[in-house]
Amino acid sequence: MEDPESGAPGQDPEGTPAEGRPEPAEVSEDGAPGAEAAPVPPGVAEALEAEDGGPESSEVPVLDLSRLGLHTLPPELLGPAERRRALRRLLLPYNRLPALPPAVGALRDLRLLDVSGNALSLLGPELLGLPHLRTLLAKNNRLHEGSLPKELGRLQRLEVLNLSGNRFTCIPGALLQLRGLRSLSLGGNRLKSIPAEIEALSSLEFLYLGGNFIASIPPELANLAHLSYLVLCDNKIQSVPPQLAQVHSLRSLSLHNNLLTYLPREILSLVHLQELSLRGNPLVVRFVRDLIYAPPSLLELAGRTIKSRNIPYVPCDLPDNLLHYLNLASKCPNPKCAGVYFDSCVRQIKFVDFCGKYRLPLMHYLCSPECSSPCSNSSTSQSESDSEDEASMAARRMQKVLLG
Ligand SMILES: [Zn+2]
Repeated sequence: MEDPESGAPGQDPEGTPAEGRPEPAEVSEDGAPGAEAAPVPPGVAEALEAEDGGPESSEVPVLDLSRLGLHTLPPELLGPAERRRALRRLLLPYNRLPALPPAVGALRDLRLLDVSGNALSLLGPELLGLPHLRTLLAKNNRLHEGSLPKELGRLQRLEVLNLSGNRFTCIPGALLQLRGLRSLSLGGNRLKSIPAEIEALSSLEFLYLGGNFIASIPPELANLAHLSYLVLCDNKIQSVPPQLAQVHSLRSLSLHNNLLTYLPREILSLVHLQELSLRGNPLVVRFVRDLIYAPPSLLELAGRTIKSRNIPYVPCDLPDNLLHYLNLASKCPNPKCAGVYFDSCVRQIKFVDFCGKYRLPLMHYLCSPECSSPCSNSSTSQSESDSEDEASMAARRMQKVLLG
């Protein structure tokens, strides 16, 4: 029999399937980004230990059948019936299983199942026989969106799901039924987008989607109120929605190796953010050329005049649609300008210092090109003086910005 570890490149020596499909470089053992982010979702490991009986019970009923070259799982390998009943963890990584063995479906009390690095193209109904399953590790297989049972949502206790290094082109709807999920890894797949329905995974704390082809971040992601670690590195993302700043639980945001040219200035309100990685983005290089200013309409000019000169009006003066329009006025953030704008505004990149070392390009909006501050007149990274206070505040919060 051929050595299962032969021809194994890089940091993920075990997972390369026989036909030598190239593995994404950044997907490591845990489907986590290289060496720089927390690979284990915080709290999850501890919860699992507690489930197994706490520190006083050192005997975790675990069966390790990894690296045995198994194509099937003969039931006798699982031991006598009473041992099977007691089994909490079954480790089957780095075998050659083409499907989940039927015997697995009878292990009703299983808490953890590891079938990573096999040849699985299907996670069948056997999975549904494991109602207490809390951790499912199935990275580096051949799974795709048709591989999961439609009733996957029945695994309501599932907290950790790792499907990195597979062939998913979209996040299947069945997966979005897993409302108890705290950690989801789908790195190194072929995902092109994140569905808005991701917001249904309301318990999610750790989301790893690095190494895909994702082009945008849906604003609905901001509804994940417990999200602490968001990894979106090595994708095709061009912008970050300002709504993301509503995720106040966010501690680490990995955005390196994307197509970002700026960040929304709202990102400053992420008070718990400790780590932000931005290297490998065009950030400051290309944006200046791309900024276009559409002149305001006559309606907008009239609205601006009414607002900025405080011209009085009462509801009976104006039709409803104009009253509504006037309520939409945004104040120009330039402190030297008392003006407002409606739809027509100048997008401007403002450089904000972090840690006295990095300058973060943040997007903000001004009422007109005349309001542009010195830094917008050139493509150099000069910091704007009136942003210094704000920047030093943010610098204290933002402990680690990885731009290099
Ligand atoms: Zn202005």
